Amino acid sequence: MSCVKTEGAQPAESGRDGLDFNPFESMTPRLPGKTPKDMQNGARVKSSNVAPQGVYRPDYNILTPHMRSPEYVQMSTAAAITLGVTTGRMYRCSCTRCLNLLLTYPEGCRANCAYCGLARHREAERDYADRNFIRVDWPAVPMDVIVDKIASDGADSPFHRMCISMITHPRSDDDTVAVLKKWTSRIDPEAIPVSILSNPTTMGRRDVQRLKDLGADIFTVALDAATPEIFDRTRGKGVQSPHKWAKYWEVLMDARDIFGPEKFGVHIIVGMGETEHEVLQLVQRIVDLGGHNHMFCFFPEQGSLMDHLSATPRDQWRRVQLGRYLIDYRGARVEQMKFDDRGRAVDFGLPGGELDDIIDSGLPFRTSGCPGKVAEDISACDRPYGDSPPSDIASFPFQPKGKDIKKIRKQLDIPHRLV
Ligand code: SF4
Repeated sequence: MSCVKTEGAQPAESGRDGLDFNPFESMTPRLPGKTPKDMQNGARVKSSNVAPQGVYRPDYNILTPHMRSPEYVQMSTAAAITLGVTTGRMYRCSCTRCLNLLLTYPEGCRANCAYCGLARHREAERDYADRNFIRVDWPAVPMDVIVDKIASDGADSPFHRMCISMITHPRSDDDTVAVLKKWTSRIDPEAIPVSILSNPTTMGRRDVQRLKDLGADIFTVALDAATPEIFDRTRGKGVQSPHKWAKYWEVLMDARDIFGPEKFGVHIIVGMGETEHEVLQLVQRIVDLGGHNHMFCFFPEQGSLMDHLSATPRDQWRRVQLGRYLIDYRGARVEQMKFDDRGRAVDFGLPGGELDDIIDSGLPFRTSGCPGKVAEDISACDRPYGDSPPSDIASFPFQPKGKDIKKIRKQLDIPHRLV
């Protein structure tokens, strides 16, 4: 098995109508269809009730076994390769530094986010554990197997961080706690810190505090959408999904109080119809609050309600990546940047030589996320090819250099050093 998928890939050099950005009007999701009653809530998996036998590799041609967290979790293909529970090769990277775990239930996620492969509207098409998510398969692995392997590796573990991704499910809060407890009972969270990718819809302040008390290091909120309108359209009532912008911000503020500066952050998907100015204003707001921004480039996930739309043109993505990095790590401010009448960044407000050095470092173009053991601005969570095919990389899961930088500069329309 490989974690490199190319099906569904669309060239991202330019967006719809040759535009170098994805405008709001062209990013409308399809509406979800109706799921027959006997296909809802994982009915097929539950009624067949096949017992799982160790690691399960997604295969929608066979009957999916009945697996549930906290006994089972799913993990990214990159994490499964690195952990050694599946085989495969990743283009230009040998392993990932983040063990991304995802809660799993036959009922799946009860939300319906338009860009997400895990969404509820897919119930009739694919059992939950077989759904693609950020372009790759997510094998299901017993939590005991994971903890045994990591504990026995000790200081030699390839992982610099573990992350528990919650989903929208009534058991999600308690099972996140159970998974975290199982982890910390055998693995020192100082050695491999834990991040929580939260599900604010089912959480309150006490849940946030409980995770902090149990040893979680960083708490993130996947706003995903950069504006309330896009949030509503892609993950709220626009697609019969339960999420609310205000609730996400409420939990984000709780995380800020409880986890403190540099220990909370947001996920933002770029290219779902917001302007570059809007997204960088959000980035600035989060930094002013003391948090960090983890960015994803919109990719039309196969089977999602947005799979017919254009991936974010690389020009738009590179400009936002650069602006985000400057604000997150180099003390730049959105107010010093200049934007054109369509909200595109045209000037980052830095002297040419300084900007050149930052571009040539390649750091702004690496995958952004929670840090590992290398540097604060190098993410442990490198999500290889989670937001693009390897043939047209959006977030670099490795250090870009040489030809990569040349290509990035072309996409930024800054082909040569400024000074
Ligand atoms: S809540 Fe998360 S997992 Fe569920 S559909 Fe939305 S983005 Fe996907």
